[in-house]
Amino acid sequence: MVCAYCFNPTSVINSRLNKKSNQIWRRRRCLTCNAVFTTSEEINLSQTWMVRKNKTDIPFNRDKLFLSIYESMKHRKEPIDDAHQITHTIITKLKSTNNGLINSQTIATLTAVTLNRFDKTAYVYYHAFHD
Ligand SMILES: [Zn+2]
Repeated sequence: MVCAYCFNPTSVINSRLNKKSNQIWRRRRCLTCNAVFTTSEEINLSQTWMVRKNKTDIPFNRDKLFLSIYESMKHRKEPIDDAHQITHTIITKLKSTNNGLINSQTIATLTAVTLNRFDKTAYVYYHAFHD
C-alpha cells in the first residue's frame, strides 16, 4: 500500500488481529514523508455471501440487516450501539451455519430469535415490519 499523502511506498510498523471482529489493523509509515496511518483488513461479506429471496440471489448487505434491527430499537437509549451489537451477534451465528448461500427467511428468523432474547419490545417492532 502506498502513502495516503505522497503515494510513495510504506512499511508496516505495527499490526493487530481483533479476533472478535476478525479484522486486522496495520499501522504504516511512509518511507518518504514519514506520515503514519492505519489500514484495516476484513472479510468483504457482500462479495462472499449471497442471500436467496423469492428465488433470486442478491449479495448479503450488512447495512440492510443493521437498519432493520435499528428500526426495532428506537425506543432504547442507545439504539445505534445496541443495533451494532445485535448485528454482530447475528453475523457471527451466520458464519458458523452457512456455506455461502443464505435463505432470507433464515436471517429473519435468526434476527427475531436474537431480538426476542435481547428485548421483547424490539422483537414486537421487528415482527410488525417483517411478517
Ligand atoms: Zn508519504
